[in-house]
Amino acid sequence: PVVARFCPSPTGNPHVGMARTALFSWAFARHHGGTFVFRIEDTDTSRDNEESYTLLVEVMRWLGLDWDEGPEVGGPHGPYRQSERMDIYADVAQQLLDAGFAYKAYDTAEELEARRNAARAAGKPSGYDGLHRDLTDGQRAAYEAEGREPVIRFKMPHKDWTFTDLVRGEITFGSENVQDFVIVRANGQSLYTLTNPTDDAMMGVTHVLRGEDLLSSTPRQIALYEAFAEIGIGGGFTPEFGHLPFVMGEGNRKLSKRDPESNLLDYKPKGFLPEGLLNYMALLGWSIADDRDVFSIPEMVEAFEIGSVNASPARFDIKKAEAINGSHVRLLSEAELSDRLVPYFQDAGLIDPTPTGTQLGILAAATPLVHERMTLLTEAVDMLRFLFVSDEEFTVDEADAAKNLDEKGLEVVRAAREALDAIPGTAEWTTSTIEGALRVALIDGMGLKPRLAFGPVRVAVTGSRISPPLFESLELLGHRKTILRLDAALG
Ligand code: GLU
Repeated sequence: PVVARFCPSPTGNPHVGMARTALFSWAFARHHGGTFVFRIEDTDTSRDNEESYTLLVEVMRWLGLDWDEGPEVGGPHGPYRQSERMDIYADVAQQLLDAGFAYKAYDTAEELEARRNAARAAGKPSGYDGLHRDLTDGQRAAYEAEGREPVIRFKMPHKDWTFTDLVRGEITFGSENVQDFVIVRANGQSLYTLTNPTDDAMMGVTHVLRGEDLLSSTPRQIALYEAFAEIGIGGGFTPEFGHLPFVMGEGNRKLSKRDPESNLLDYKPKGFLPEGLLNYMALLGWSIADDRDVFSIPEMVEAFEIGSVNASPARFDIKKAEAINGSHVRLLSEAELSDRLVPYFQDAGLIDPTPTGTQLGILAAATPLVHERMTLLTEAVDMLRFLFVSDEEFTVDEADAAKNLDEKGLEVVRAAREALDAIPGTAEWTTSTIEGALRVALIDGMGLKPRLAFGPVRVAVTGSRISPPLFESLELLGHRKTILRLDAALG
């Protein structure tokens, strides 16, 4: 059975690269009916923080990337935060020492530096030279007596490392490029190099999918797995590895977590649907078919093969992300869209925290007017604000007013007011009556082109040139408010 995992370090805000990795790993697990483990790699106390952890969990929930084992849900291999597993790593390090797979190294920083420089000058690999690999008991005792605090290094077997990456095929790292590496710092702190493979082994991970930046750590991790198999840690097998392509931002640079479009926390407030963002992120290295960009997440899960992930870098394009989001907005039913819009109207202060029936009714009635006209949910707020604000709060966009409510425009507004005021009773206040009355008064009566006829009315009543279809909008706004706003425009 497949066990895949996502194991971010909680530093800073969750970012796009991270979420793409989570999505691919999750889709892989789901496609194979396997287990998806979510683990928090918070061993670096100087960089990790609690807020970042909370945000990560929130973002995963918002995206709908559910996990079978991990924070909040628990599981048989917990705890799932590495900060709560430090004893386990210390114990594993000791077992590696006892079995001769690791050793204490007493080199000082200055000594290491001097030897590295000498190796470089001689054109040799500048990694650790293995000097303390085979110290005698006497040498060790002497260093201890000097008060030196050792690190623990893993003893890399001297051989070449070849593995078949699930994305890039066969990869070989020459022995000379992978030296003995530190797994525990002098202060006793276990490092990523140890904690990550320990947990993957103990949690039964069968497939490690992660960013390309971690490719070079793979031979070391494979070596650890081989040692683990000897000393009975984990299931005795080495997982398969797949390294996902870099995501590139502006100017052919790697998208950095400092790039503004990288911040995952911005997508919800900007008006992205989780399924729209997931669909877009799926395209960062994968495609469902040559001629198809828009698909649902269940469709992705059904079709997702790790072997069809593209090894070459993917380009992040926010415009395309928005367009794909727009497609997903259009795929929603009116009722679903209306529900999804509620929080945005609440955040804008247009709908109460506990919505009234009237507010929800207006939103439901107005949703069809904007459904086809937006890519981001926030656009609905801008287009429909005029239906929710009180008469006192209602304002007209200044630039639109200057262009549309000049002397000529106000003449149109005056004629429109007269024609609309003549519509008797609420029952008659319908889109078609409104349209008929305005056509007769402005187009037939004043001989205006539709744009010049309806523009001023639109601006006076909705406050902006960019708004949903006019006659429907007036119907929803109601007779009384329409007349009030026309009067306000006329001063
Ligand atoms: N905590 C590591 C990171 O965030 C995980 C690396 C891995 O997936 O092996 O980079």
